[in-house]
Amino acid sequence: MSRFIYADHAGTTALSQTALAAMTPYFTEQYGNPSSLYRFGQEAKADLERARADIAACIGAKPEEIFFTSGGTEADNWALKGVVELMALKGKTTGHIITSAIEHHALLHTAQHLEKQGYAVTCLPVDELGRVSPADVEAAIRPDTVLISIMAANNEIGTIQPVAEIGAIARKHKILFHTDAVQAVGHIPVDVEAWNVDLLSLSAHKFQGPKGVGALYVRRPLRLPPLLHGGGQEKGRRSGTENVPGVIGMAAALKEAVAQLEAEGARLSALRDRLIDGLTRLPYTRLTGDPENRLPGTASFVFEGVEGEALLLHLDARGICASSGSACSSASLDPSHVLLAIGLPHAIAHGSLRLSLGADNTDADVNAMLAAVPEVVAYLRNMSPVWDAAEQKPTWVVE
Ligand SMILES: *Cc1c(COP(=O)(O)O)cnc(C)c1O
Repeated sequence: MSRFIYADHAGTTALSQTALAAMTPYFTEQYGNPSSLYRFGQEAKADLERARADIAACIGAKPEEIFFTSGGTEADNWALKGVVELMALKGKTTGHIITSAIEHHALLHTAQHLEKQGYAVTCLPVDELGRVSPADVEAAIRPDTVLISIMAANNEIGTIQPVAEIGAIARKHKILFHTDAVQAVGHIPVDVEAWNVDLLSLSAHKFQGPKGVGALYVRRPLRLPPLLHGGGQEKGRRSGTENVPGVIGMAAALKEAVAQLEAEGARLSALRDRLIDGLTRLPYTRLTGDPENRLPGTASFVFEGVEGEALLLHLDARGICASSGSACSSASLDPSHVLLAIGLPHAIAHGSLRLSLGADNTDADVNAMLAAVPEVVAYLRNMSPVWDAAEQKPTWVVE
């Protein structure tokens, strides 16, 4: 019996045993610096390059197109700031970026930063299922558009975007296309060729690799100016002594995840659908995100008349680790920008819950959540000033 039920795999995951075993020697015996000329360092270099080739193969890329970073946030920052700097080097000091309203803050806040520096940014709306329309992307293109950045799958509501269609539009108009694929890689098939992407962000800790390591895919012959300057590692594109154990762990975790993708995807989808079927039976409850184009492990809801934070605390007291959608929004009182973007009113968006499943979750976990969540929701509703306990409906519903 585990100490608790972990249902926050979109927030982070446990390191897989395979990844742990693969990376352990690189902390102790194989600690050489890949930049060193002696054999001990060059062995680390060779292992790092093998990991690069493995990671590239998992997303249909070439090894030379993979650049290691400290994670998804750095990869997103680098993609945007790198393209802007590249354009500046070509003499274009202003320009236009197209993105969506439901991106991760690593992307949105970088775009806002560039906006303050004079760049124009179009944040495309999404429909009620959280989908970006490829036609909207095409219509937003201007003569000065330098980059389109649309995430592959959303971290809060699990919606998978029509990335290949958007990539084809970007290609047709000869505009660079970046996708934040942090939630997609290791969870759904990812292919930089089929998707027509020029830049793609990934992060190891979302697919059972270690925290603090990720990568940016950069399609050849595109050469992004570096975000970090220094000793010239990563062909001068990303300085800093390579995180050898991290990269080895990331490659081992990704190979394992991709090998199990189909079987694990089917297993998780079945568990997820049981959660969705069970919890959407509750009155004044709805699924958020796309019921079909959806990450296998992500079930997300809003419960009217419930405060999301209170729900999380009560679930925690019952040993269930869940999220209200975004780890970043937990410090603020505003509801998630994603839930507002899919058109939910503030009052309803406050009652959100994300249960994201992964390797350690079982049928028994789902049963336990199907028992606990309705009890906590009923308890909180009956205490809530916005719940009409006599009528068993939210106070904003008038008949
Ligand atoms: C987690 C996440 C990130 C940030 O990745 P880190 O490696 O934690 O910096 C970026 N985008 C999405 C969609 C994410 O889910």
